[in-house]
Amino acid sequence: MNSTSSYRHLIPFLLPQWRLFARGFACVLGYVSCTVLLPAVVGRVAEFLGKGDVEGVARWLGLAAIVFLIRSVFQYGESVWTLAASLDSVLALRKAVYAHLQRLGLRYYERAKTGDLTYRMTEDIDRIGEVINSMAHRSLSSSLQLVAIPAYMFYLNWPLTLASFVLAPLMAWLIGKFGRRMAILSRRSQDRVSDLSSLLTEVLGNIRIVKAFAAQAYEVSRFGKEAERNRAAKLRTERLRAVQYPVVGFLEALSIILLFLLGGWQISRGQLTPQEFVSFVTAVALLLHPIDLVTNQYNSLKQAEASVDRIFELMEISPDLEELPDAKTLPPATGKVDYRGVSFEYECDRPVLQSLTLSARAGEAIALVGPSGAGKTTLVNLLMRFYDPQSGAIFIDDINIRDVTLTSLRHQIGIVPQDTVLFSGTIAQNIAYGQTSFDMEAIVRAAKIANAHRFIEQFPDGYRSRVGERGLNLSGGQRQRVAIARAILLDPRILILDEATSALDSESEALVQEALERATQNRTVFVIAHRLSTVRKADRILFLEQGQIVESGSHEVLLAKGGRYADYHARQFSD
Ligand code: ATP
Repeated sequence: MNSTSSYRHLIPFLLPQWRLFARGFACVLGYVSCTVLLPAVVGRVAEFLGKGDVEGVARWLGLAAIVFLIRSVFQYGESVWTLAASLDSVLALRKAVYAHLQRLGLRYYERAKTGDLTYRMTEDIDRIGEVINSMAHRSLSSSLQLVAIPAYMFYLNWPLTLASFVLAPLMAWLIGKFGRRMAILSRRSQDRVSDLSSLLTEVLGNIRIVKAFAAQAYEVSRFGKEAERNRAAKLRTERLRAVQYPVVGFLEALSIILLFLLGGWQISRGQLTPQEFVSFVTAVALLLHPIDLVTNQYNSLKQAEASVDRIFELMEISPDLEELPDAKTLPPATGKVDYRGVSFEYECDRPVLQSLTLSARAGEAIALVGPSGAGKTTLVNLLMRFYDPQSGAIFIDDINIRDVTLTSLRHQIGIVPQDTVLFSGTIAQNIAYGQTSFDMEAIVRAAKIANAHRFIEQFPDGYRSRVGERGLNLSGGQRQRVAIARAILLDPRILILDEATSALDSESEALVQEALERATQNRTVFVIAHRLSTVRKADRILFLEQGQIVESGSHEVLLAKGGRYADYHARQFSD
């Protein structure tokens, strides 16, 4: 992306704030007008000083003070309004990027790094906000001053003005060159910080494993290397800046020396009065600040370009799985599920499911059994529409799940995963996860079915006890029961259970099993089964191997058949 195209993406986020920007810009105009007035007033002060007219000096100094005061008021208005406008623009951008991230499918998240995304959502967007603010706030004012002040100088004395600007093209060229290099170095530097952040999220998020493998020293050295790369990238950027300022500063000094030479010569020939020269030098002094600011701004602009690119790279990724424009709401289902000739692969030419056909009656409990990697998880993932099959289709009550909205589909399917994730918040919020309205009665009802009500009530704050990050920690069995309550809160017709492989103690196990039995009543259930008791109770067992259903029937029938399931049963459940 080049700079114009990168920044162009920001326009839709800036335009809605035009009123605030307009107010800010009006103040900028006021501020610049006062700034241009100042050298004229100071010139008059010098004139009266020359005449020894104290009263005149006092009068003009008083006027200078008033101009200064008005200028300060404009300066305040400019700061406040442009800041508000840029913060509002950035808020809209941040919300839009987050909403976009939520739309992206699982395929994207399998490749993405959380730390990198977090960094983009926070630091990169902040940087964009800063540059919008400083552009709106300082650059306009500086650019206007860069036009207005030289115009005034030109009016005062054009030969002197030309002399002052003789080195300007060289300066502009140098600044441009530095800026382009700065953009490249900045992008590298930002990417390195992102890497660091990704590493941190990954390692700190899995600190148990790190400790279990006594890998602290390994992680410290890995972090050290990444941090060094970050330091090197930053140093390269800052070194460039360190060269730029002295070079531009030296050219400025040369210009001033030139100005004094020519000014002195003109005064000696009587072509310029000392007062005019004072006025002129005041104007030049006022000009130095905006020149510095513009140089600075240009650098920031180039640096933030990296952040703008990193953000709009995300926005350009299109979700691989989308709702049809005319997607309907899935009407309350009875729970009949049909897979018709479904083939699926995560990666090209590595088929995971192959023309799989399966029909589940409403209310049927189906156990999915088979060796690891057979495709059991994939089969249920397709029902949730985490992915779309490459061929074939899945129907609920004879409605193709591709034709309905994702929300209405997922609201009719409950899922109890192997590991329950609790989000920071109260137990009630965790049970009602994802719901915008909060029905306490329904939550308690679900918790009772899930055998969770009793232990929740015993917590000091009951359903309002905080769990998750820095909150209460629940035992494995309690978590599972919260997960069951969460899955059945919306009374879904279809329930997916990914049975936990780790065993609980017998009392907890009994409570979970009882909860599951109640939860699965009158629902179509797909359970990825690891326990003999679950398989036995299922209405039907599907034995999967290499993405195909190789056997189907009840436990007794399949055992009697003496085929693949009977083999598997003998190995897996022999004790
Ligand atoms: P397990 O009992 O071990 O969980 P499973 O029967 O549930 O296994 P799946 O998780 O459905 O098996 O995986 C089926 C195949 O698809 C495996 O070969 C696996 O490597 C592959 N696979 C699963 N998820 C992905 C993914 N996100 N990207 C690429 N390949 C995947």
